[in-house]
Amino acid sequence: MVDSADPMKAVLSRYRDPALARKLVARIWDLARDLPKIRIMHVCGTHEWTITHWGIRALLPDNIEVRGGPGCPVCITPASDIDVAVKLALDGINVLTYGDVSRAKGSRMISLEDCAADGGKVGVVYSFMDAVRIASSNPDSEYVFLGAGFETTAPTVAYYILKGLPRNLKVLSAHRYVPPAVGFLAESEDLEIDAFINPGHASTVSGMRAYKPYFDKCGKPMVFAGFEPIDVLVAIYMILKQLRENVPRMENEYVRSVTWEGNLKAQKALQEVFDFEDGYWRGVAIIPASAMNLKEKFSQDDARRVYGLERGGGDYFPQEARCAEIIKGIINPPDCPLYMKACTPSTPIGPPMVGLEGTCRIWAQNRILVKDFRCMSEACRINHGTKYVRRL
Ligand code: SF4
Repeated sequence: MVDSADPMKAVLSRYRDPALARKLVARIWDLARDLPKIRIMHVCGTHEWTITHWGIRALLPDNIEVRGGPGCPVCITPASDIDVAVKLALDGINVLTYGDVSRAKGSRMISLEDCAADGGKVGVVYSFMDAVRIASSNPDSEYVFLGAGFETTAPTVAYYILKGLPRNLKVLSAHRYVPPAVGFLAESEDLEIDAFINPGHASTVSGMRAYKPYFDKCGKPMVFAGFEPIDVLVAIYMILKQLRENVPRMENEYVRSVTWEGNLKAQKALQEVFDFEDGYWRGVAIIPASAMNLKEKFSQDDARRVYGLERGGGDYFPQEARCAEIIKGIINPPDCPLYMKACTPSTPIGPPMVGLEGTCRIWAQNRILVKDFRCMSEACRINHGTKYVRRL
């Protein structure tokens, strides 16, 4: 029963409507008939959450596979950036960052949270605005903000840099830009990806236009999608339709947010503040033009220049951990021997179990314990998503 007095509930009920989902699933099965194995990749932790939470993989035919790519900001932040942030904190500089970034471990398996226990100066903020406020209120202390994330969070940093940062606040930018990563993944032969569900919120900033050069090069379907279960099902339907017609296109499912041009103001701020240079994505590769590094004219705000820090590039994962394959979308969490044994949400070992948008964490929180998530085993039945599945 929809509460008509609550417009948000009314909208959500539309995008979670089981009757509509049932029709879409039937269409997807029709379109998938006789197709070879199709691998669709999304590059967004929020899409992974939607797909896992609502049990969408369990609704798809066997020949349609949806893989989670490197869409978790914590997962792709280089271990060396964590290392230098830890060193700064232990040297007495106040390092501010997001909660899940503070729990990611560097190459010596030490996180900012760990180093705080050893006297490191670490603070958790919800946004860059908090960091600006804290630094402004404490002018006699030095602060560094470790900025991780994509073009969704970077514009706020760019905006405040353009406005003028407090002189005691520097930025250690580990920000990454998604379109080149999609281009890189599309060209990665070991992944054999046939089509992409592109991230709705990052594309709201960059616009569909930013993906055009990569689409032109790879010629693989790209559908920009929102984050409700109907959004994802429609995106899969659109991709299969393109594959059946053999006419790959860039299509927009998320018309309520994504446009061709994107957010021009945010893009302008990013272009003014950052150089887009080759950058390492942890577990993946160095991806051309994907790292947002502060331009030379903002040297006074750049922690790398002020403290003489290297660009992020180092990598480390513990023995037996298969985090790199998870981040790249090659395997699923139950394929890792540490998943839900040594590595759990309360005892995370690798970044995909630390990051709120990490695939391992999302699967663990939805209690997916088995490789075959299509079966209706005990593990599947306790998955929240199957409540939705069973209503179909
Ligand atoms: S379960 Fe833990 S160790 Fe294994 S891939 Fe996931 S995060 Fe890495």
